[in-house]
Amino acid sequence: MSVRRVLRLSSVVVVMLALWLPEAVADGSWHPDPAALAAAGAGPATYDGAPPWDGGANCSSGLTPAATALAATIRARFGDLDIGGYACRPNTASSGRTSIHGVGRALDVMTTDGAPIADWLLAHSAALGVQLIIWNHTIWRAGAGSVRPYGGPNPHTDHVHVEVRAGAAGSARRAVLVL
Ligand SMILES: [Zn+2]
Repeated sequence: MSVRRVLRLSSVVVVMLALWLPEAVADGSWHPDPAALAAAGAGPATYDGAPPWDGGANCSSGLTPAATALAATIRARFGDLDIGGYACRPNTASSGRTSIHGVGRALDVMTTDGAPIADWLLAHSAALGVQLIIWNHTIWRAGAGSVRPYGGPNPHTDHVHVEVRAGAAGSARRAVLVL
């Protein structure tokens, strides 16, 4: 193969890489749809935390009705996803506190394509009683005008973590409204 031909081929490879790279190399964060963020901003700003970790005595025995309803709503909207929920354990990002999974108000939606789900949860956060979403190194918390980097030990690139408020209702009717 001539030197010219090698050079020409390598320039083609460089151009192909340049076209491919912006798509293939994620910047490691979730950039929510601005309309979803604006809709979430109009919702309540309250956040219901969990009590300090006490070895599990404060744990609920399963998901709350609101978390169960939210899992059903997510499956109805996005298909039969693997959605985990109840786990009696400390918060991985704050070991002195009980995880919201331990009080039955958090779901882990297993997916590597979490942005559409995270955006949808954000857009409907007020109706669903959603107070916090973590996806792809990024966290949204009710009352915050924007998302911010999430530095917890789990990067949340294989699941979307979503929490509901303590008082959120679990009615199927409300779930149907947001489909
Ligand atoms: Zn979680």
